[in-house]
Amino acid sequence: MPVDLGLPAVPNATRRPDTPELVDRFGRVATDLRVSLTDRCNLRCTYCMPAEGLDWLPGGDLLSDAELTRLIRIAVTALGVTDIRFTGGEPTLRRGLEGIIEATAALDPRPRISMTTNAIGLARRARSLRAAGLDRVNVSLDTLDPARFTELTRRDRFADVLAGLAAAREAGLEPVKVNTVLMRGVNDDEAVPLLRFCLAHGYRLRFIEQMPLDPQHGWDRGEMVTAEEILARLSAEYDLTPQARGAAPAERWLVDGGPGDVGVIASVTRPFCAACDRTRLTADGALRSCLFATGETDLRAPLRGGASDEELAGVWRGAMWAKAAGHGIDGGGFTQPDRPMSSIGG
Ligand code: SAM
Ligand code: SF4
Repeated sequence: MPVDLGLPAVPNATRRPDTPELVDRFGRVATDLRVSLTDRCNLRCTYCMPAEGLDWLPGGDLLSDAELTRLIRIAVTALGVTDIRFTGGEPTLRRGLEGIIEATAALDPRPRISMTTNAIGLARRARSLRAAGLDRVNVSLDTLDPARFTELTRRDRFADVLAGLAAAREAGLEPVKVNTVLMRGVNDDEAVPLLRFCLAHGYRLRFIEQMPLDPQHGWDRGEMVTAEEILARLSAEYDLTPQARGAAPAERWLVDGGPGDVGVIASVTRPFCAACDRTRLTADGALRSCLFATGETDLRAPLRGGASDEELAGVWRGAMWAKAAGHGIDGGGFTQPDRPMSSIGG
């Protein structure tokens, strides 16, 4: 059965209005840019990458720091983007990370700047990243059991992640959010312990439903741990009070009256496509209007071919105007995109 996305069945307009913002045919406006800085990673989370890694993007295909920061400037100053999220792959593996953040923070108007990271190396770099202008981080952590962490990520780096989390908080990269993907028979017994841990440390936990974006095609709808199940587990232990959602993908609940909260990003079972405000740029300069889009728009060729800022902004506007209504994972007929999550930028 098709999932109701709360969007009109047919697009509202056939001609793009003459507006600088990244509007689409369904009345949405993209203001949140996800920038993938690299497709490489120092972990090999089983749901994200095979043990041997992937065929990494060739160096020459990657946007240089100058190319990336130019596109970010265009997004912020010409297209109305207000939020920049750096991701990957593992964004901390990007050599020029601090410089890219500094250039982003120097823009007028200054966007909010965040990063999704596995936190390895943050213990050493949290302060310099904060000084460069990073506002906050989302840290991925799927287990509190060191042996399980090693199994799940295929690397023995649990202690580094805990140290990275603490360093992020101490450096003021707040609120520090924790992203967790639960998998049946792997870590689905850790919903409550993870929430207890996050509440105790002042981290804000967000569970993310596992999505069909893995190159191994191992995702199985029947096996997936759903938002409903996660909430049932948490409700057995805590009193959860629903909070207003706004445009955020996470549904939120206050835990035992607050101030701590917990979120669930139910991308599969409760899609939030109608409120989507995202636009995405891959490390090799492809624009994506959606995580699940099967097509993308090349910005690198015009960029390297001498296009002006206004021409590049025009390509970006056109790509977003054509954004599809939604992903329809749960509605049948879904095609998994060719690019895996680690290359799109999660
Ligand atoms: N390496 C960084 C990290 O792990 O935070 C940033 C990139 S990672 C692809 C971004 C987020 O995507 C992580 O929180 C990860 O758990 C999540 N992720 C990866 N594959 C996923 C999948 N198939 N379904 C849902 N979330 C996924
Ligand atoms: Fe790396 Fe993040 Fe993928 Fe894990 S989820 S393998 S940390 S990119």
